[in-house]
Amino acid sequence: MEEKRDILSLTRAELETALQEMGQPKFRAAQIFRWLHVRRVEHFAEMMDIPATLRERLDVEFCIKGLFVSQRLASSLDDTVKYLYTLPDGQHVECVLMHYKTGWRLCISTQVGCKMGCRFCASTIAGYVRDLTPSEMLLEIYETERREGVTISGLVLMGIGEPLDNFDNVMRFLALLSDPDGRGMSLRHVTLSTCGIVPRIRELAKLRLGLTLAVSLHSPEDAHRSTIMPVNRRYPLAELMDACKAYFKATGRRVTFEYAVMEGENDSMADARALAALLRGTGSHVNLIPVNKVRERSYHATRQAAMRFQQMLEKLGVNATVRRTLGSDIEAACGQLRHESEKHKGGEGY
Ligand code: SAH
Repeated sequence: MEEKRDILSLTRAELETALQEMGQPKFRAAQIFRWLHVRRVEHFAEMMDIPATLRERLDVEFCIKGLFVSQRLASSLDDTVKYLYTLPDGQHVECVLMHYKTGWRLCISTQVGCKMGCRFCASTIAGYVRDLTPSEMLLEIYETERREGVTISGLVLMGIGEPLDNFDNVMRFLALLSDPDGRGMSLRHVTLSTCGIVPRIRELAKLRLGLTLAVSLHSPEDAHRSTIMPVNRRYPLAELMDACKAYFKATGRRVTFEYAVMEGENDSMADARALAALLRGTGSHVNLIPVNKVRERSYHATRQAAMRFQQMLEKLGVNATVRRTLGSDIEAACGQLRHESEKHKGGEGY
């Protein structure tokens, strides 16, 4: 049997075309888009102003995807909530809801697993399974908003996966997310984090989406960065920094850099000097994160270590902050929750 089309992944223009092909007037697409992305119905039967015959036809040709909750972990220290969602095919992804002074921020996943192989990251240990569809990324937001009764005002693409390795789906997701007739989120409130896939950064720059680009740096030296981030062998620092400068030039928005402090690994005075030299003239900001412990790896850092490194950077004229730690009691490092749940399935999966 042919699979039904995933209607939540269709942009408004694509939905218009699909409905035109069914002999429907254009305004039907706008109506259906609102049912899906504003009222967020789960069944075509709920679309009250759509004729019954069309609702039935839609039900034959399309599906409205949904997510199931596998685990919900709420912090007892702050308002952070972590979800492990089950996707329609039984795979799992994580997202984390955090409360800031400015509102609710959600960190979403963009792939099931990851190919990038960063040494300190739990998401990549068991490899890559598949890309998320635009609808699955949207549903991470819609489901979390519905379940928690909140409106998410900021989004970070920093969960499981490498967003620029799922470029087309992520771009379609962003188009859907920011559609004024849908969820209508301004992309100014979105941060996309990448390990540094240079050609995709250049492609993203051309689109001028207005989002914030964060680049995971973690080391200022090629030889070392290549040992902890294999992507650096393909796109070394000089190429990466050139792409970041091109991004700033094209979009007027400074790239921010993520730096997971790992004690004895990347937090010496020499590292601080090399980092300062690398960032000189960019005016960029560095986000320091004490590395989260991953069971299979020995990297570690205290908050004090991150603060020491911050002071070194500040003295060298680099603007750096240590990221606030939220939900530390439920913190299982990026991808750890999914990783553990897959292991307990006992040999299933990949
Ligand atoms: N693939 C993208 C986005 C997902 S990871 C990227 O690499 O940017 C989000 C951020 O968490 C990245 O900066 C990543 O390097 C960082 N990260 C991964 N594992 C970590 C760990 N154990 N401790 C701290 N940060 C980690």
